[in-house]
Order: sequence, then structure tokens, then C-alpha cells
Amino acid sequence: MKPFDLATVDVCQQRPHYHVDLNMEAVVLNIDELHARAGNVCEICSGTDGLERVEVTTEDATLLCSICAEITPAPTGHWRALEGAAWSIEPAVQIAVWRKLNNLSEAWATDAQANMMMEPDVAARAAAVPIVHRDAHGAVLSSGDTVVLIKDLPVKGAGFTAKRGTAVRSISLVADNAGHIEGRVESQRIVILTEFVKRK
Ligand SMILES: [Zn+2]
Repeated sequence: MKPFDLATVDVCQQRPHYHVDLNMEAVVLNIDELHARAGNVCEICSGTDGLERVEVTTEDATLLCSICAEITPAPTGHWRALEGAAWSIEPAVQIAVWRKLNNLSEAWATDAQANMMMEPDVAARAAAVPIVHRDAHGAVLSSGDTVVLIKDLPVKGAGFTAKRGTAVRSISLVADNAGHIEGRVESQRIVILTEFVKRK
């Protein structure tokens, strides 16, 4: 089979955005809704630096500071905040906490994880291997991000080439394919391979 690349992908129909899904399925909160839920603080440590929306599953998102989002290094003792966050009633926070605890080997983390009370469906979402979209350099992509194309990409069926250096704003992630995002280029909504973009 021919490798799947942008040149073979026809322009997509515009998809409904997750958080306006009228069937109320897979409702993912946007950044403003997350700020309201979280009270404008990190949902793990209550910090306020570099708060951003982090999707933990296709239906769960959390508001995290740059340390809890693992963008800046954690100072010693930082992750002890997980012990308190483990009591959150928000499924998305429970999932984020459960996974982080799962990656820590200290006894307190093992205990905190074992004591978490999660609904079975939430526990299943936490344990499922998440689909993570990454750009050409391995940076994690979230819906709403801006990316830049790192090569010229002819768009079959649309009659134009998306030029290297083009910024694509407010991307969405293709939920079932870690290699695909969607975005608008020259007013057309197209599928773009993550290997050809860099997060801005
Ligand atoms: Zn934090």
C-alpha cells in the first residue's frame, strides 16, 4: 500500500467540534470552561504558572500548570500534590493523577494510587493507552494549538500547495489516529500529517 500522505488525502468535510457535540457524547471542555471548573488554578497542584488545557483522553481535559503538564521540570517534592489531587471528584483529574502516580515508584505514590476511588469506566479510561499526537520534534499537540508546516504539501483535490512555513491555527486532533490532525489552510479544512508540522 502506498504510504498515506497529505498528497493522497482529499479535502475533508468539516467535522463537528467535540465540545459542541449535540448528542452530548465526548464533551471536552475548552480552556475557558476548564478555568471556570478549576477556579483558575492547576487541577493537580493549585499552581498558576503557565496554565494550559491538557487533553488526557478524547473525552477528558484538565487545566494544568506548566510543571504538572511536564513542560518545565518539577522541583523536589512537587508531585506530592498528587496525594491531594487524588481525591478530586473530576474524572479527567482522576485520570491525569492516576497515570502520573502510575509512573512514580515511591511508596507514597503507590499508596495514593491504590486508595483512589474511581468509577469503573473512569478507571478503564485511565488505564487505556492514550492516543497522543506529537509534532515532527516529538512535542505533544492539543486541539486548539497553532502549528507551522515544515515542508510544502500539495493538497490533492484542493488544487493548491500548502507552503512550508504556513501557520495553521486552532488545529483539531483526529481522535482515532495519532498521525493526523485537521486544520484550515487557504479557507479549506484539510487533514495534515503530524510528521510535517511543528508546534508553534
Ligand atoms: Zn500544577
